[in-house]
Amino acid sequence: MLPNRKLKLIDAYNRQLNYLRISITDRCNLRCVYCVPHDLIPRLPHDEILRYEEILRIARVGVDLGISKVRVTGGEPLVRKGVYEFLAHLTQINGLADVALTTNGIFLKENIEKIKSAGIRRINISLDTLDRKKYAQTTGVDKFQQVWEGIELARNSGFYPIKINVVALRGINADELTNFAKLSISYPFHIRFIEYMPIGKSRMTFEPPLLIPEIKERISSIGKLAHVKKGRYDGPAERFKFEGAQGEIGFIGALSHHFCDACNRLRLTASGQLRPCLLSDHQLDLKLPLRNGCSDKELADILLAAVRTKPSNHNLAIKDPVGVHCQMSSIGG
Ligand code: SAM
Repeated sequence: MLPNRKLKLIDAYNRQLNYLRISITDRCNLRCVYCVPHDLIPRLPHDEILRYEEILRIARVGVDLGISKVRVTGGEPLVRKGVYEFLAHLTQINGLADVALTTNGIFLKENIEKIKSAGIRRINISLDTLDRKKYAQTTGVDKFQQVWEGIELARNSGFYPIKINVVALRGINADELTNFAKLSISYPFHIRFIEYMPIGKSRMTFEPPLLIPEIKERISSIGKLAHVKKGRYDGPAERFKFEGAQGEIGFIGALSHHFCDACNRLRLTASGQLRPCLLSDHQLDLKLPLRNGCSDKELADILLAAVRTKPSNHNLAIKDPVGVHCQMSSIGG
């Protein structure tokens, strides 16, 4: 524990960063057309990836500085060996109120009990189409049914809320947005529409981008959306609900709506880089200091320094986007 517990992760714009997103691997079992480039990114060598005990140490130091929510992501987090034991250690960190998981759902069905026993109650599942053939074309694997069964099982096993992340992709799922939105009526799922962010290398461009105003317009035929009050950890997501619906609709529009004033996040990459902003390549290294035997106080100082460099706004724009070179699959979304 740090000697001075008064230090907090408050940035130069008075945003309190209480949410740490941790990518535990850069490997993924899917090849989503918009996320993984053709000339596949070289995978990090094993010893370049933070060990679980290193990640847990960073998380503990973060919690001492005010982090109260952690999300585990990847690559695909469920492909990393030992992930369930790691999750169990993470959920036991004193002061950590919320540990959530983001997964593509491929391994959900057979591991739901292990995820639950590890103390996880909140899962986000990425699913960009409800059509089996399209799923196979977009991800490279014919596993739609397996993912859907995993989602159903998670629901029946008491996970709540189950958020389904849908990246809006013109030419891929524009015609399915209402079907996704309707799921929020018949199921207690939170459907979150996310604008595609043009970062890293991608096999496609989605021109013109499918932005939140158009998504709202497309799903408006279902009914009127009422605002839902934001929770403490919601960050940039705008929340809504259709009348009588069991679930919710969320919108995350990095392009159409610069939501940076509500950003409460720090990100840790699988290789131990701390990124104050998803949409900037600026990052601070934690791995080397950790492996050189730094103290918790020194680690805390790096976290505090990262917070001081968090920009007020990102530079991604609809036209003429400023390049972010890092792949989403290595940052974790
Ligand atoms: N493998 C896990 C999964 O599929 O949820 C976690 C990692 S994945 C990189 C996290 C999220 O980032 C997914 O929901 C994915 O659809 C989203 N994503 C990837 N590339 C994106 C992009 N360029 N713009 C917006 N979202 C993106």
